[in-house]
Amino acid sequence: MAKEGLRMAQSDDQRLGEFDLIREIFQPLQTFTSPDHRDSLVVGIGDDCAVWRNPGNLVFSIDTLVEGVHFTKDIPPSDLAYRALAVCLSDLAAMAAKPSFFTLALTLPDAREGWLKAFAGGLESLARQHHFPLVGGDTTRGPLTITIQVHGTTEQPILRSGARQGDVVYVTGHLGDAAAGLNVWLDKTDTVQFSKHQAYLVERFHRPTPRINESLLIAPFVNAMLDVSDGLLADLGHMAKASDFDIEVDPEKLPISIANRDVSGEQQAKVNALSGGDDYELAFTVASDRVIEFESFCLSHDIDVTKVGSVVAKEAGDKAGVARIIDGSDFQVVQSGYRHF
Ligand code: ADP
Ligand code: MG
Repeated sequence: MAKEGLRMAQSDDQRLGEFDLIREIFQPLQTFTSPDHRDSLVVGIGDDCAVWRNPGNLVFSIDTLVEGVHFTKDIPPSDLAYRALAVCLSDLAAMAAKPSFFTLALTLPDAREGWLKAFAGGLESLARQHHFPLVGGDTTRGPLTITIQVHGTTEQPILRSGARQGDVVYVTGHLGDAAAGLNVWLDKTDTVQFSKHQAYLVERFHRPTPRINESLLIAPFVNAMLDVSDGLLADLGHMAKASDFDIEVDPEKLPISIANRDVSGEQQAKVNALSGGDDYELAFTVASDRVIEFESFCLSHDIDVTKVGSVVAKEAGDKAGVARIIDGSDFQVVQSGYRHF
């Protein structure tokens, strides 16, 4: 559609026209194709559509981040971009899909070169690491909004609905760091510097690690999987419902970082781990008769996983499966997941 080009700018930051911006800022991100996909990118940025030759199932997911809803003005543009792409890559990880390529629809109030370069830098670190090229997109003027669609392939997607009674529930990494980091970020002041632990937690919030490598390695053992975006109990609730079993979580077994304990205190750290969102760790189940083999596989491949619960029969009278804390625990959690509507 013909439209007025993007050209408003602030005086301290050089303005860019729409096509320069695409060529100079975004086109370089097209080079990070994986060696496995060298012949897959048939047509990239510059034509009306991109063309990708795809082997196997195409797995894809789209996410939008809106300023004022998902992030505030004070987030550095490189962190904003990193986080936006990490969150989408995490969805691919949750399906055990290998990343192929992504597209970016960017709505900007103005086109400032410094801001855009920092933003592209945030995308680049993940694109490079995961051999994940940017092959197309759209650029428009308006309130800052970032939409990323990611694409991957897998022969065998892993679904939320695959959990079976008796399965053991695991998570990767630590839980609750991002929620603790968000609290630190919201409480920050101009005068007080972050402690080492505070800085670490803020980094975990701004730059979550998409567990792509872990996911591809553990996939052969896994029955059901998702990524923890809304909070462990909320997300395991989705898995329980989809699988039609209950899931019990032991709050004493949660992997909680020293930084989270130090900054949040023991009890709040546990609340963060159970119900804080934004960690983008994987939660998944393994059949009980494969647990020994699985855990020794993780040890030998240096994959950090923690057993946090199990899949059990639904309680009598329950319509849908739910996730809950194990019976006998005196721990109470109230909130569960963010909803836009
Ligand atoms: P059209 O008018 O056909 O929609 P555009 O002018 O929007 O084309 O885009 C021109 C080319 O630049 C297309 O190949 C498009 O995929 C690419 N492109 C536009 N914006 C971006 C972006 N933010 N990131 C990557 N590629 C982009
Ligand atoms: Mg367009």
